[in-house]
Amino acid sequence: MEKTTHDRTPSGRESEDGAVFDAIVVGAGFGGLYMLHSVRKLGFTCRVFEAGGGVGGTWYWNRYPGARCDIESMQYSYSFDESLDQEWDWSEKYAPQPEILAYANHVADRFDLKRDIRFDTRVTEAVFNETANRWQIKTDRGDAVSAQFCIMAVGCLSAANLPAFEGIDTFEGPVYHTGHWPHETVDFTGKRVAVIGTGSSAIQSIPIIARQARTLTVFQRTPNYSVPAWNGPMDSEYARSIKADYSGFRAKMRARPTGFYFPFNTESAHASSGEEREQQFETFWQRGGLPFLGAYGDLLFDKEANDTIAEFAREKIRSVVEDPQVADLLSPDNVFGCKRLCVDSGYFETYNLPHVKLVDVSEHPIERLTAGGVVTNGVEYDADVVVCATGFAAMTGSFDRIDIRGRDGLALKKKWEAGPRTYLGLSTQGFPNFFMITGPGSPSVLASMIQSIEQHVDWMADCMAHMRDLGAQTIEPLASEEDAWVEHVNEVAAISLRSTCSSWYVGANIPGRPRVFMPYIGGFPVYVDRCNQSMDAGYAGFVFDQGALESSTPAIRLTERWHVPVDVEVISLAAIAANRVPVV
Ligand code: FAD
Ligand code: NAP
Repeated sequence: MEKTTHDRTPSGRESEDGAVFDAIVVGAGFGGLYMLHSVRKLGFTCRVFEAGGGVGGTWYWNRYPGARCDIESMQYSYSFDESLDQEWDWSEKYAPQPEILAYANHVADRFDLKRDIRFDTRVTEAVFNETANRWQIKTDRGDAVSAQFCIMAVGCLSAANLPAFEGIDTFEGPVYHTGHWPHETVDFTGKRVAVIGTGSSAIQSIPIIARQARTLTVFQRTPNYSVPAWNGPMDSEYARSIKADYSGFRAKMRARPTGFYFPFNTESAHASSGEEREQQFETFWQRGGLPFLGAYGDLLFDKEANDTIAEFAREKIRSVVEDPQVADLLSPDNVFGCKRLCVDSGYFETYNLPHVKLVDVSEHPIERLTAGGVVTNGVEYDADVVVCATGFAAMTGSFDRIDIRGRDGLALKKKWEAGPRTYLGLSTQGFPNFFMITGPGSPSVLASMIQSIEQHVDWMADCMAHMRDLGAQTIEPLASEEDAWVEHVNEVAAISLRSTCSSWYVGANIPGRPRVFMPYIGGFPVYVDRCNQSMDAGYAGFVFDQGALESSTPAIRLTERWHVPVDVEVISLAAIAANRVPVV
């Protein structure tokens, strides 16, 4: 990371010393922006600190070529304001990063959010003062402020993982990480480029880098399944039809296990003959993207069913990649959809180009970088530029990078040593008034994330307003409820094949991290229902002011749209009992 020059010079500003707020929010991605808007609406004062030089989070940092969403644009956007939905037009089925960043800026400007955000400012410390019942927050710009609530909107995929390759400092060219991409255009024309990694970021960027580079060498540790996006310009008739009843469409999205809408079939793959299955997979393949997993209901629960879709996807690779040895190397043998499924535009086709080479580092890891290349298995591959598409310390990485201390000075990092422990992924015992947007133990990355964010924010904002109604100083979960939730999260994970491979969902992409399945896999509406039940019962599972206060029925302010019945057609008890609720 030292070698990139993307970090903008922080704009000069006075540090804030002793300022007092109702809430501090860390991060100004989609989570932090909506949190600020919501708490302001309910009359709370709020300061947001953001390490980047602008809003947008993921879409501010991930400027690599080809970066775009893999949830359709008509669904990958906020749903809290009908006129915002109506006035914004997406240009493509899957919007590119600059457009999503422009959308984040549009929202920030439209709701006048930037005046309460301090950019280029990293929160370094958050300590709960038990005497004052307040959080003391410090930043790398000398700010020292306090607030009743500390809200982490730090992102699940925001702590870039740059492996400590030996010799990285001796490499003479630039080393880029996809998650910390420079603001200025990177021109690969005439360059020998090395890309390390074959996850979603690599799969999106490789076809575009290949178009410019003189040579491209891809270092692959684990091959990934990828489904074509079939991206293209937005079908204006489709956009019009959604906008004709956007709120109805949003309600349908909310009722889906994934928090986004696509047709899926709850039947078992075993119920079809081989020929019927092929046809069904082909139909879903032609729809493209993540909805491919909706072809059958038991694909992520039954290994034999999964084998059928995995083989179909491998056959697709073999049909595209001309060199059988390369096709073989690119073909995963793990569970289909176990690692986050990738969505591409011409990824496998890229390996047919004569100047593109695939190097397998599964058995012989990258040994070192030299002044002019990358060495593995004793062979040096020349490179002028290295692109690390090596992912993130997912889910907890950005928490680990802040010194967070709760009651009795307990460090969050210490508490989570053996894996994150939360109640509903919203809060953690011993850390009063500390909320996490899409925290571990919530659906987060297994649902469309803007849905996950909005539901969390609405719940938190209503909770804060309820505390104000009560005159409560603090809220935190009961240890017994947290233990039960952690157990439930683990139990549900165990019934899904998703928990069986070495993915970032379980922290396995980074050496030394505990192996724990971090997101809640039980389905978005099921989870929302649990949050509603807690809220409706006066925040059951939580304790106010360490038990000193009587609770009462909370007023529904922002959470109304989440208090909806689930789509019984899809989430029927029978479907759940048969483990046939597909999750993405
Ligand atoms: P982020 O957008 O990650 O924002 C967190 C912010 O917190 C960052 O700006 C960071 O700088 C800041 N921060 C962190 N620590 C500190 C600190 N100590 N002090 C100050 N600031 C701090 N999800 C989908 O649902 N669909 C998609 O198509 C999709 N595509 C993605 C593509 C890429 C390349 C990546 C990496 C992720 C993608 N995701 C997608 C997930 C994406 O992260 C979420 O959709 C969403 O943007 C997360 O918003 P957020 O506000 O929670 O977090
Ligand atoms: P990733 O999925 O974790 O992929 C990282 C890649 O780097 C993997 O292939 C990994 O191999 C490899 N790697 C890591 N360390 C390595 C090392 N030391 N040597 C060799 N290879 C190494 O990260 P990502 O591609 O940035 O994606 C992360 C997540 O962000 C995605 O899963 C998705 O949720 C989101 N995302 C979405 C999109 C989209 O399409 N909208 C695009 C980008 C990202 P192993 O597999 O062996 O660990």
